[in-house]
Amino acid sequence: MIQINEYFQKLSQNYLFSEIAKKLKQYKAEHPEAEIISLGIGDVTRPLAPAVVQAMHKAVDEMADASTMRGYAPECGYSFLIDTIIKNDFNARGIQLDADEVFVSDGAKSDTGNIGDILSTKNVVAITDPVYPVYLDTNIMAGRCEMFENGEWSNIKYLPAVPENDFVPALPAKKVDLIYLCYPNNPTGTTLTKSQLKQWVDYAIENKALILFDAAYEAFITDADVPHSIYEIEGAKNVAIEFRSFSKTAGFTGVRCGYTIVPKQLKAYDKNGEAFPLNPLWNRRQSTKFNGTAYIVQRGAEAIYSPEGKRQIRETIDYYMENVRIIKEGLDELRYTTYGGVNAPYIWVKTPSGITSWEFFDKLLNECQIVCTPGVGFGASGEGFVRMTAFGTKENTIQAIKRMTRN
Ligand code: PLP
Repeated sequence: MIQINEYFQKLSQNYLFSEIAKKLKQYKAEHPEAEIISLGIGDVTRPLAPAVVQAMHKAVDEMADASTMRGYAPECGYSFLIDTIIKNDFNARGIQLDADEVFVSDGAKSDTGNIGDILSTKNVVAITDPVYPVYLDTNIMAGRCEMFENGEWSNIKYLPAVPENDFVPALPAKKVDLIYLCYPNNPTGTTLTKSQLKQWVDYAIENKALILFDAAYEAFITDADVPHSIYEIEGAKNVAIEFRSFSKTAGFTGVRCGYTIVPKQLKAYDKNGEAFPLNPLWNRRQSTKFNGTAYIVQRGAEAIYSPEGKRQIRETIDYYMENVRIIKEGLDELRYTTYGGVNAPYIWVKTPSGITSWEFFDKLLNECQIVCTPGVGFGASGEGFVRMTAFGTKENTIQAIKRMTRN
């Protein structure tokens, strides 16, 4: 008899985006003339940079010729891309890495989801609340969460990130083994300064814990005091894995490429307390279950780091950051309380008092034909907030604020 992985049955339905789609469909059916503007979109809308397109075209031509075509890519990435990543994203910030500490992949969702393969199911896991849902759901699938009581999973420590703590979660009162940190943060758009992140690195060193640092939005950082990489913090190579993505940096959501850093000095322990490096485990995991990112895609990613590529992706990031500014300043004028939106493409908006996330979603849809994302969909501490994003067009963003001003 075939038995299923029963942990999948423990997953709660992710109602968030399906519920949004349902409400939107109903509204459109009732108001076919309505021109709806989405400030809820978590996907990019600007085209790929010309330098990337050119590099990918060239790579396609190489694939069309028997003398230059490439078959399976190296599982952990071509050295042309790895060397370029190290030079630009790390050496430029004073961080030294070896080529075999960089693992090119098809994106940060896969890597943040798969990393649990090399870690015991007995680990106690800390996640911030609200949170990017992948961290929690993949731990449930893996069997790290046996019981659900009072709205919380056993083995998961929830770290509220709320205005009362300036969205800087307190260190866990009880010892944890794995800590997911995402900065700049999705969904709140907030960040940690170097000294705030250092406290987490120090905690991890003291408690033999591992930080899983998701830096998918690193390219949006504007403040000098916000670290782009966790390895800017002393000692982090001993306790942290870092995930990066080209999705929002360079519009690669549909192209698929990212990378993960697993330093060779980073160690975890077996049940007898003996230390083992994690780098060979992740190498083995990737080599066994992943057959490499497409050559064409890796050439496209390499082109992001060329002088034209850098300039072009910066223009696109600036375009989105201008949208963020428009939303934030518009909402501030309307006397909403907003967070984030300075070093991230996300703004976390406090709903007017007494209104829940979903009620505010309905209000914006019905009164302004604007779609946002209810914060409670990211965790209990997201109640009373909505997330607005900067990935739409500038025209629509301006129009959205005008509509909110009129109402
Ligand atoms: N990590 C965070 C925090 C995200 O918000 C997202 C995408 O929304 C991802 C990872 C996924 O990135 P990728 O497209 O590289 O899989």
